Amino acid sequence: MLTIKCAACKRKLWKYDKIGKGHILRCYKERIIKVYSYEKEGNKIKCLCGKPIGIDKGKHINMISRSFTYTGTKRH
Ligand SMILES: [Zn+2]
Repeated sequence: MLTIKCAACKRKLWKYDKIGKGHILRCYKERIIKVYSYEKEGNKIKCLCGKPIGIDKGKHINMISRSFTYTGTKRH
């Protein structure tokens, strides 16, 4: 399980069940286990500090690289 955090303010955004190796390019909503905080503005996903994190594409969020960090382990 990964905890996704804002790169700018380190606030926790959500907990994500990442399967497999590799970079996080998308977060599938069905695998977002817990939401801590984020804001939506249209289809834009932002941290509460205002930093854009991703774009809501319906079933998944396209993540903006370098806008977030994460801690935890990926599932193989
Ligand atoms: Zn932030």
